[in-house]
Amino acid sequence: MTTIPHWIDGARRASTSGRTAPVTDPSTGAQTAQVALASVAEVDDAVAAAKAAFPAWRDTSMARRTAILFRYRELLDQNRLALAELISAEHGKVLADALGEVARGLEVVEYACGLSEHLKGEHSQDVSTGIDVHSVRQPLGVMAGITPFNFPAMVPMWMYPVAIACGNTFVLKPSEKDPSVSMLAAELFTRAGLPDGVLNVVHGDVDAVHRILDHPDVAGVSFVGSTPIARAVYERGTAAGKRVQALGGAKNHMLVLPDADIDVAADSAVSAGYGSAGERCMAISVIVAVGDVADRLIPAIEQRTADLAVGPGIPASGDPADSPDMGPLVTKAHRDRVAGFVDLGVSEGADLVIDGRGYTPDDPAAADGFWLGPCLFDNVAADMEIYREEIFGPVLCVVRVGSYAEGLEFINGNNYGNGTAIFTGDGAAARDFQRNVTAGMVGVNVPIPVPVAFHSFGGWKDSLFGSSHIYGPEGIRFNTGYKAITSRWPSRADSQVSLVFPGGD
Ligand code: NAD
Repeated sequence: MTTIPHWIDGARRASTSGRTAPVTDPSTGAQTAQVALASVAEVDDAVAAAKAAFPAWRDTSMARRTAILFRYRELLDQNRLALAELISAEHGKVLADALGEVARGLEVVEYACGLSEHLKGEHSQDVSTGIDVHSVRQPLGVMAGITPFNFPAMVPMWMYPVAIACGNTFVLKPSEKDPSVSMLAAELFTRAGLPDGVLNVVHGDVDAVHRILDHPDVAGVSFVGSTPIARAVYERGTAAGKRVQALGGAKNHMLVLPDADIDVAADSAVSAGYGSAGERCMAISVIVAVGDVADRLIPAIEQRTADLAVGPGIPASGDPADSPDMGPLVTKAHRDRVAGFVDLGVSEGADLVIDGRGYTPDDPAAADGFWLGPCLFDNVAADMEIYREEIFGPVLCVVRVGSYAEGLEFINGNNYGNGTAIFTGDGAAARDFQRNVTAGMVGVNVPIPVPVAFHSFGGWKDSLFGSSHIYGPEGIRFNTGYKAITSRWPSRADSQVSLVFPGGD
């Protein structure tokens, strides 16, 4: 059985911890490898490598950093399929979708290629007589990232390209469920000319995370994962004096007004609800249907869902164009948890209109995969657990409300505030919605409004702990320290003692 090692100081490093976790192919249920779980000493080695690499990387010219990033961008582009195959093999999402994930990660690398533009700083002349001020943003040192299973390539790329382009070094702790793609991504960066130690990958579980959060040489931590762990990571990391941005879970609502085009809304709900088997932090999980919308929308969703192909992430042909629509869930435990929520919804009194619990693909090789077909509940209420909890699977809940105002109030009553969307032809309602909804990312007739790389990504309320969103301009601010320099070049004749606090003349 292959053991996936760490990537420390520009090379593979076998683990000595003696602890591993299984890596499985969700489409067959078979274990395909095991991944090392780092000891405290191994995390310390990775941080030490990053710390040692920092002074030279900080002092590397912007021109050279940019050239390395451009080469990295080219290597990622050439290896899109290899990266996507690793994602599909360990996460289970279909190959076409995995390619989309790589493309969205690549966007952040492209943004990082142009980062010099954003590190220019500002200059003011003669703010007082003979005094100039300029401000710069400087790298902080060793930054770390802890990432979830559901976007094993893209979410790490939300973090390390920006951190490294700013002049920091980085330690990544990816999800232990699908660790391989981070290894290839790190290796490609080294091939692009990144000096050893600038990007390190340590695999691990809670022990590695705690060590990163407590380590005195780690300046800042970006975390993406579930809300309880995001909250704990934020509290522990900030108590240790670090800056932390911890992005948590979600319950994303799609508000559909009576004037919406029902076909467009149904296409969007099915795509955003069941894409990647609902294992997206921006997946639509709740449809808030105003007036009689549900009576028209649910049959349109049923019709589309019946046509969905659910099967192994990597099609037999290997051609992404032959991908099914939806793959399996990531692990057996997660599949059983999601199916358990469907059982719970029935016992809580919601109407199960589409039941995917019995689904298995025809292919006998896939018999032991972690399958669950699309599910849809109608008449879901705010006090039901299937509404309150993040399910993170292919389960859509429909909530019926009487008016737009009731729908907005309902959405704002939820503890999560990651993404949300409104479907309508009414510009005034859309404008009111985007102004008053308490979520960080809003779509107007767009079901998964993930901001492009030159904006920033993040939620509100229990979907984000910390004040900065990730990548884009907020990512640069998170990864740099602001410094303002006030200069004066007085002649000896102008110099005098004055104990008065200087005014602005
Ligand atoms: P998770 O919270 O279980 O794990 C995230 C990371 O934390 C992993 O690296 C994991 O090894 C580590 N971890 C696990 N248990 C830990 C513990 N007790 N203490 C410290 N670290 C621990 O999340 P997941 O199941 O891998 O991913 C799915 C979750 O991530 C969902 O809740 C989803 O909404 C969320 N997510 C959020 C965003 C966002 O941008 N807000 C994006 C993607 C995923």
